[in-house]
Amino acid sequence: MSLDAIQDVIRDVPDFPKPGILFKDITPLLADGQLFREAVRALSDPWRDAGLKAVAGIDARGFIFSAAVAFDLGVGLVPIRKKGKLPWQTIEAAYALEYGSATLELHRDAVQPGDKVLLVDDLLATGGTAAAAAELLFQIGADVVESAFLIELGELSGRARLTRCPVRSLIRF
Ligand code: AMP
Repeated sequence: MSLDAIQDVIRDVPDFPKPGILFKDITPLLADGQLFREAVRALSDPWRDAGLKAVAGIDARGFIFSAAVAFDLGVGLVPIRKKGKLPWQTIEAAYALEYGSATLELHRDAVQPGDKVLLVDDLLATGGTAAAAAELLFQIGADVVESAFLIELGELSGRARLTRCPVRSLIRF
């Protein structure tokens, strides 16, 4: 496992998308097949043969990792999308971002009550996005076994907002 190598390829982009934001660019990691696979496996590994029903991924960079983790584990994929993108009956949760605000939606029938679901996103910053996503999953009765992130920005204390499930990140800045 080369978490150090994964950390090393993540590129800092200052003042994107707004002044004052240090954006963590994951595209160099995605471009490296071996490191991308190692990152996906590190997210998946604790959950092999754990009886998961699905991995839930957060729009949009979260889809990249959640889809790969779901494939790796052989379980379903549940998209949690920005408002207006899901075609069926939805529930929604509004939240504030490190930059801006948004609303997430989830299909009402995405999983059944009691189903074990792993929530995945690329990055945990203030925690607003992941807390809203977890809340939607809890509302439809999912058993959220963990919120897993490639990157955690520790000084923003996002994990403090995820009180109802364990939180794990591969890399902390
Ligand atoms: P937050 O709700 O503050 O935890 O923000 C997390 C979401 O915003 C994730 O979906 C990230 O993709 C994105 N995000 C927030 N801050 C950054 C950052 N500094 N670099 C890259 N993505 C970020």
